[in-house]
Amino acid sequence: MPISKAKRWLKKALLRSSILRTASRFAPSAAVVLMYHSIAEDERATEHILGVSRGRTSFEAHMETLARHFSPVSIEDVAQFAESGRQLPPRAVAVTFDDGFADNYDIALPILNRYGVPATFYIMVDAVANGALPWYCRIRFAFSTTAKSDWSNPTSNQKYTFRSPMERKAVMTAAWESAAKMTGKQQQDFVSGIEKSLEIEPVKGRNGFMLTWDEVRALKKAGHIIGAHTLSHPNLAQVSEWEARCEIVGSRDTLEKEMGEPVEHFSYPHPALNPQWSSLTHDITREAGFKSAVLTTPGPVRTGDDPLALRRIGTPADLDQFTWNLQCTFLGRSS
Ligand SMILES: [Zn+2]
Repeated sequence: MPISKAKRWLKKALLRSSILRTASRFAPSAAVVLMYHSIAEDERATEHILGVSRGRTSFEAHMETLARHFSPVSIEDVAQFAESGRQLPPRAVAVTFDDGFADNYDIALPILNRYGVPATFYIMVDAVANGALPWYCRIRFAFSTTAKSDWSNPTSNQKYTFRSPMERKAVMTAAWESAAKMTGKQQQDFVSGIEKSLEIEPVKGRNGFMLTWDEVRALKKAGHIIGAHTLSHPNLAQVSEWEARCEIVGSRDTLEKEMGEPVEHFSYPHPALNPQWSSLTHDITREAGFKSAVLTTPGPVRTGDDPLALRRIGTPADLDQFTWNLQCTFLGRSS
């Protein structure tokens, strides 16, 4: 049997047995935070636009697994567990969504409610307020569908030619990296410039991709938590202090106005480049009064961890891989 096949077989055998589950009971107490973005009816249909979707069927299987074999908890519970050792049930898992896609309401909400899984939805405020696609999706769409094969980056004057899928991906990444350092109008102008030079008709505004404020309020009313995810989704560690402050505090203020109550949880965007946070952004989130902030750095959350820098893990579509990653994270091992 080839090694990769043998590994897969062993993984499956371990998952079917209760060995990993039992082992995680004896591992040091931990919680895990899961990260989702969009939940699509068919994730392949919008791959060239969103590129961050999980399919409905996978998501439902994930939630059923959580409800059956784990203990779904809120991000508030996890933050208190990190900060003060608040008791959590064994194998506690919190579910989170970034950005504010409309399918969070249309598809994810009924499934979450059916399985009794509480979730936190981190809203990219400008995208929801304007009903506009996040800029990283617009860039993906532009480079994925253009008939052109060259682009010049106005921020560096670097010229790119792309013919193969790999070259296309590389130039798209270069564009993401430039835009990740921008906020607000500068970022909008940069992305519009890409669409213009690639001769792409931008994906239209209110096209159902993003939540409306009424839907955000309905998520809250259904018992879930609404958190902030900046105004324009830059990499906060790569922008000026003033811009970071506007993005962090501004997104909280707008959300509080729309929700009519305090917004206490934050998620760091990670569109491109590393790191995604700094001691300065950490201080701003603390001064802004956030109780927790989540990262895209994988790993478990343990008591004593900084609640303003909580780790989260990704959510592979395949159920065995999803369960394996969860089990390994509880054991403090990378998957
Ligand atoms: Zn995001």
